[in-house]
Amino acid sequence: MSNDRTPRRGVLLIVASPSGAGKTSLCRRLMADHGGLQLSVSMTTRGIRPGEVADRDYHFVSPETFQQGIDDNAFLEWADVHGNRYGSPRAPIDKALSEGRDVLFDIDWQGAAQIAEKCPEDAVRVFILPPSLEELRRRLVTRSQDAPEVIERRIANAKGEIEHCSEFDYVFVNDDFDRSYAELAHIYHAERSRRFRNIWVRGYQASLLAEDV
Ligand code: GDP
Ligand code: ADP
Ligand code: 5GP
Repeated sequence: MSNDRTPRRGVLLIVASPSGAGKTSLCRRLMADHGGLQLSVSMTTRGIRPGEVADRDYHFVSPETFQQGIDDNAFLEWADVHGNRYGSPRAPIDKALSEGRDVLFDIDWQGAAQIAEKCPEDAVRVFILPPSLEELRRRLVTRSQDAPEVIERRIANAKGEIEHCSEFDYVFVNDDFDRSYAELAHIYHAERSRRFRNIWVRGYQASLLAEDV
């Protein structure tokens, strides 16, 4: 009997939250634990932070280069977030999907809505809530990678972002990190097993039914 289970439709796993809720930490851990999952490395006009690595965390570009990407239709989605532009380059996503791989997005709610509209079957949207806005502020301050006025702007934007959590398929509060990570991994595993994504099942089912026992 064939063990070839490769033909499948990849998951577009989209994780969004207000800045500081913990999505990047959760996404990094999910990537570390799942070799087959590919991170969509966004293009952005924001400056690089201490500790960030160009082309691993983001493709950091000028506003002119970003505009060229828009003109060339090179983004699956793009949005203005906290005064900068961010976009998901289309080519690596198309390549991953054509190879049956899953893609992880760490993007904002506007990008999540655009991808869900363009790819309604493949997109899975997860929204992560902070335990409180006070804790959100504490995390942004402790992360100490943004200037005080940048942190204030992100906190001011948090309520507007949280209003959109009802558009998402899954939502949870990132209080205890390990418990939250388990929640995200469970969502990913369950979505991977959905029958329509596993095109190989039909042939496998036929071979099981044909087995002589
Ligand atoms: P963080 O929220 O503290 O991680 O801050 P970042 O500066 O890394 O990201 C700012 C916002 O832009 C977040 O809401 C991200 O989810 C969002 N973002 C990052 N990349 C993309 C992208 O490619 N497209 C869209 N639409 N949003 C993005
Ligand atoms: P985001 O990508 O949503 O802006 P980060 O992953 O950068 O968030 O997390 C913001 C800060 O909060 C980081 O310093 C991170 O280490 C910390 N953090 C993330 N999750 C938790 C958690 N469950 N409990 C406490 N601190 C957390
Ligand atoms: P940061 O500047 O802190 O890395 O990200 C700020 C926000 O931008 C986060 O909410 C992050 O998820 C979002 N973001 C990052 N990349 C993208 C992207 O490619 N598209 C969209 N729509 N949002 C993004």
